[in-house]
Amino acid sequence: MTDATDPLVSAVAPGVTRVRAQNPGPMTLDGTNTWILHDPGARSAVVIDPGPDDPGHHRRVRDELERADVQVELVLLTHGHLDHSEGAEAFAAVAGAPLRAADPRWSTAGTLEPQEVIDAGGLRLTVLATPGHTSDSVSFAIGEYLCTGDTVLGRGTTVVAHPDGRLADYLASLGVLRDRADRDGVTHLLPGHGPTVTEPLAWLDFYLAHRRDRLAAVAAAARALGPPVNTGSEDELSQRVQDVVAQVYADVPQHLWPAAALSVRAQLLYLAAGDPDNRPT
Ligand SMILES: [Zn+2]
Repeated sequence: MTDATDPLVSAVAPGVTRVRAQNPGPMTLDGTNTWILHDPGARSAVVIDPGPDDPGHHRRVRDELERADVQVELVLLTHGHLDHSEGAEAFAAVAGAPLRAADPRWSTAGTLEPQEVIDAGGLRLTVLATPGHTSDSVSFAIGEYLCTGDTVLGRGTTVVAHPDGRLADYLASLGVLRDRADRDGVTHLLPGHGPTVTEPLAWLDFYLAHRRDRLAAVAAAARALGPPVNTGSEDELSQRVQDVVAQVYADVPQHLWPAAALSVRAQLLYLAAGDPDNRPT
């Protein structure tokens, strides 16, 4: 049985529980969140993002399921990054439950489709395609809850990592989540890392504003460096990326510049493309 005071387990509401994996790091904040969701009266649950291949973490998730007296009906992934997915197949196999994700490489029971409606754990979940952090990122709308994976975190901002992550996609996805939160009267975002977000619209507006500010800073730095580079030339582009990083991230420790470079590359390509519907490939 789980200790009720276990700092890794937090009950957001009846049937909404977060179990935090012990894999803290620069990209994972204080660890990956595994979400256990079910209707308070149901005998089964949905587990979202079983997290790393860590037996201790999975034991904690199973203890929590046992405490709630629910079986695992379905395991879902928000995206394929290993800190969310590495232990998913083993966890689902032990639970005897199907595993589903947008990427067929992770699915044992069919890939998730955009706008697909899933009934499980006494809940109704709608799959929202929210690419940008990665191309396979999805979010789940569950009544007044939005499970956002790494598209929106509970603290800080997320990485749009070129080439799999695309800024135009990411901005559109933030818009999708904001519209959904507004339409459904969403009260909580359940992120892949960090705490539950209890002011969804304000937080999504902050995310959109942060992206626009960063993009404006990158655009200004690129303009100051002279005429636009030929984004088809890898040498020119990587030089320009380094120059922009040195300006825009001057106050950031240099060991973080490689991560910043991925984000700047995505932004320069976005700016070069002009029309977001005419993205570079
Ligand atoms: Zn991720």
